[in-house]
Amino acid sequence: MLDRPTKLQEYQTYIDGKWCNAASGKRFETYDPYTGEPWALIPECDAADVNLAVESAYRAFETGPWPAMTQTGRGKLMRKIAGLIEKHAEHLAKVEVRDNGKLISEMTAQLKYLPEWFYYYAGLADKIQGAVVPVDRPDHFNYILKEPVGVCAFITPWNSPLMLVGWKLAPALAAGCTVVIKPSEFTSASLLEFMKLVIEESGLPPGVVNVVTGYGAVAGEPLITHPKVAKVAFTGGSITGARVNELAARSFKKVSLELGGKSPNVVFDDCILEDAVAGAISGIFAATGQTCIAGSRLLLQETIHDAFVEKLVAMAKQARLGDPGLPETQVGPVTTPPQYQKILSYIDIAKDEGARCVLGGGPATREEGGGKYFVKPTIFTGVNNTMRIAQEEVFGPVLSVIKFKDEDEAVAIANDIAYGLGAGIWTRSLRRAHSVARRIKAGTVWVNTYRAVSFLMPFGGYKASGLGRENGAEAIEGYLQTKSVWINNGPGGGNPFVIKTASS
Ligand code: NDP
Repeated sequence: MLDRPTKLQEYQTYIDGKWCNAASGKRFETYDPYTGEPWALIPECDAADVNLAVESAYRAFETGPWPAMTQTGRGKLMRKIAGLIEKHAEHLAKVEVRDNGKLISEMTAQLKYLPEWFYYYAGLADKIQGAVVPVDRPDHFNYILKEPVGVCAFITPWNSPLMLVGWKLAPALAAGCTVVIKPSEFTSASLLEFMKLVIEESGLPPGVVNVVTGYGAVAGEPLITHPKVAKVAFTGGSITGARVNELAARSFKKVSLELGGKSPNVVFDDCILEDAVAGAISGIFAATGQTCIAGSRLLLQETIHDAFVEKLVAMAKQARLGDPGLPETQVGPVTTPPQYQKILSYIDIAKDEGARCVLGGGPATREEGGGKYFVKPTIFTGVNNTMRIAQEEVFGPVLSVIKFKDEDEAVAIANDIAYGLGAGIWTRSLRRAHSVARRIKAGTVWVNTYRAVSFLMPFGGYKASGLGRENGAEAIEGYLQTKSVWINNGPGGGNPFVIKTASS
């Protein structure tokens, strides 16, 4: 059970190693999605605070202890950060549940796993290497340097607030960057607790990590367009992502985007049925469907369709709705009021389009285990892939079931979508698993499992699901610049009006 004090908790934000209010003095309330009541006050930052934060990050990048630190030293500090997350994981998880209403079981698991990102990238910090290039001139000694890109802006969503910051922060610190983070207006509290309990406590120099809390258009846009920001790492919806990309492109910033999805979870008739049913349920209903990788399009081979749907509905009916702070709860509230309205409107759209609602289909009352912002786990059959319920991201506990005949049709339906984040395949056939995994256009394909993520495996999207990759060794490249150094050890001279090539 969560401790839910009624007195509003007052937070300050963290800029240049100091706790402060927004320059305007404004604050906004953040809500507990389970009770629907405000529980904390958050500084409402604007362009003035963004400027202070970016200037601080820029100073920390250019001067002071951070750029003077060795790569091995950075790695040691990051291990300290990992240890502090381990120490405070349970507390941080509880703050996340209070703020975003996701299950305590899920947030605790995320927070307990998060230190691994910092241990992993700490290990990579002193393995960032350039190269010596035996260039085609005998008198030259040429080499390539890998340098930190500079000040990075992180803009993050509400569904997994600290995990999605950690995926960016760990490689950025390993690369030697400094950072300004704009969390979601709905879930800023856990990041501010993280700054106090982890970042401040770790002894990271002032200005290396700063936070500007506030609204997307007011605090996010000035951060993206600030001339001293070199890289923008964004996680959120695809429409916002397109806007972020456009703004960042105007000043040629590096950009990585982790965006939305409408992932196909494809079940063939040679699957292990019980495993696939459980995989379909966890694919869509975990986190109340509020995950970018939700397997929201369930593609069922027609030969098993009816038997599968029967088992699926029976299992989904058993889901325990309730207080996300209780370990036994399986489906919690929707995080934000606009998201709640959006989910209900998609349920209406699906019904209007002629899809058949075989489970749920509306709000869940307190008597049903729900409450103010609860939606019943909902399953639509008879969906065809051209319907809006099949094409658009709902970001809620709403599953669209689509029939297919054979492998070719399954692949065609899976790929007939603007997104390309994740995909599931359920089959006993090794040949089919490898073949379909290659043919599906998505950044991650799971076979006989769903939702697994690791710091070791690259994560990101094809098409409207994003640009670039987080996690794995390649994520660090997003925080680095490449510099080529030419050293002439031979005589100078030659014609100064001719570009020097090997033969000139
Ligand atoms: P949004 O795109 O609405 O918001 C994401 C972040 O962007 C928030 O911090 C938001 O601030 C900020 N923002 C909004 N407008 C602007 C703007 N004009 N300029 C700068 N920043 C802005 O997404 P949600 O928070 O609603 O999160 C849900 C979305 O995130 C889903 O589409 C989901 O698929 C995606 N997502 C993707 C993941 C991935 O890894 N691919 C993982 C998790 C989620 P504010 O909160 O103040 O609006």
